[in-house]
Amino acid sequence: MDDAQAERSRFSGRTILAVFAHPDDESLACGGTLARLADAGVRVVLLCASRGESGSVTDTALVASRDLAHVRSDELREAARMLGIAEVLIGDHPDGDLRWADVPELHNEIVTAIARYQPDGVITFAEDGLYWHLDHIGVHERTYTAVRSLGADAPPLYYVTIPKGLMREVVEAAGGTAFKDTKFWGIEADAFGEAAKPPTFAIDVRDWVPRKLAALSCHRTQMGPSHPFARIDEHQARRLLGHEHFRRAPTESRWESIIEQMGEPVPSA
Ligand SMILES: [Zn+2]
Repeated sequence: MDDAQAERSRFSGRTILAVFAHPDDESLACGGTLARLADAGVRVVLLCASRGESGSVTDTALVASRDLAHVRSDELREAARMLGIAEVLIGDHPDGDLRWADVPELHNEIVTAIARYQPDGVITFAEDGLYWHLDHIGVHERTYTAVRSLGADAPPLYYVTIPKGLMREVVEAAGGTAFKDTKFWGIEADAFGEAAKPPTFAIDVRDWVPRKLAALSCHRTQMGPSHPFARIDEHQARRLLGHEHFRRAPTESRWESIIEQMGEPVPSA
């Protein structure tokens, strides 16, 4: 039995729920892991809280007469197909106000999704929201509270983080300051992971990096040709983006989860 078959026999038939804020968060935060899970036969369900209608647009021609919420929802479905995500649930909560608006509604949607899909694990942002993005922090809070409300019967919850300094390395590998575009969606590279707590395990996604990048590029209104992820070559991308980092959240869940079994422990510094 080769590695892929062994992984399938171990994980097939399980379910993972990922909860994020905007179209493209899934690909950026852990697109490699979601694709690896899907390839192992895991049913991956994505709940995206908003349609991303407040994001900036790379090229207005992409939106034309349609509204941005529709275009970004379509981009998300395309990225999800690229990653092998089985189901995409798109909420209609206000992009830019996810921390304070619709708090009980989003809480209930997450609880309902857990009841309906019975996931073996839930993935969301950590406390730092990747770079202190308030929408991301809001989704982190809602997801944590929703999982906590289920007590010991809750599936384990995992926080995904981007290591400090990584995005700076991506910019440099993608040509550095010779290019005008040294930010990510208007965010300084050094903001990513700046306040992240250390991960406890990492998942090797080197073989899934091309799909992670392809999924990111499905989000065309967010990622134009000058974006560092569009410029980085495959060798450098595998080196820099080949591991995605997680930490198990402190909940009462007593479940074992499949996600840790796919990863390798990260020694604490
Ligand atoms: Zn986001």
